[in-house]
Amino acid sequence: MDPPFDLSGKVALVTGAHRGLGFAIAQGLARAGATVVLNGRSEATLAAAARSLADQGLSVDTAIFDVTDRAAARAAAAAIERSRGHLDILFNNAGIQRRSPFAEFPQEDWDALIATNLTAPFIVSQAVLPGMIARKRGKIVHIASLLSELARPGVVPYAAAKGGVRQLTRGMAVELAPHNIQVNAIAPGYFATEMNRALMDNAEFNAWVCKRTPAGRWGQPEELSGLAVFLASSASDYVSGQMIVIDGAMSVAL
Ligand code: NDP
Repeated sequence: MDPPFDLSGKVALVTGAHRGLGFAIAQGLARAGATVVLNGRSEATLAAAARSLADQGLSVDTAIFDVTDRAAARAAAAAIERSRGHLDILFNNAGIQRRSPFAEFPQEDWDALIATNLTAPFIVSQAVLPGMIARKRGKIVHIASLLSELARPGVVPYAAAKGGVRQLTRGMAVELAPHNIQVNAIAPGYFATEMNRALMDNAEFNAWVCKRTPAGRWGQPEELSGLAVFLASSASDYVSGQMIVIDGAMSVAL
């Protein structure tokens, strides 16, 4: 049996991978031996991210498409299958945030949040599934959130979408288990990424995160990569439908 965390020979697609958690996940998978296909919407930023992985001697490719575009996602998955021969691992990481009081939350922002954070994981999962089902093997990991379970003012639609991701994970896990496809979710706490730039720059919020988190600090994106490798590898072949929280103990602290 291969070493359980070895991803040699595997091909992984990571959405929203030019920066932040997606980039850290992609780098972790590539360091574990996978060929990683970075997805994003901007050719320039993706090329720069791909170059920085290639410069480390890692195996990397890019796929430019908007994750909310069903036809584009299907075309990209088919192109990876054609060029690489197989697509074994999907990380549905792309996501957006919009903040506003609920009573006046613009519907276009609600629509964008649901489209990117909940409908896109459905779309991209469907795009990769034909190959996985045919090979009777696959790993799909959604990026959920602490807000899949908890709530804060100003981010109600994000919490609704991420709550949906949790149930999407469970439903897919149950239905796809007979095909030997494992579906899990990672629920990060507060990580230092561009998505949270405004929060990190807000002294009061920054102090709240550090005080409220027993670890006393924000998570660093690289701290997600070991869990990502576990969920992408044969080490997790009997783990499915789970949402694993990685939050410096925030969610278990009073
Ligand atoms: P970033 O904003 O740093 O990165 C988000 C990525 O998603 C970017 O690469 C962005 O690309 C991409 N993206 C957004 N919309 C689309 C789209 N329609 N098609 C393709 N790519 C898209 O955020 P994080 O790294 O912080 O977040 C990554 C994931 O983790 C998200 O799902 C987020 O909700 C989740 N998360 C993050 C937490 C945190 O504390 N940071 C906590 C809990 C969950 P572009 O530049 O083109 O917009």
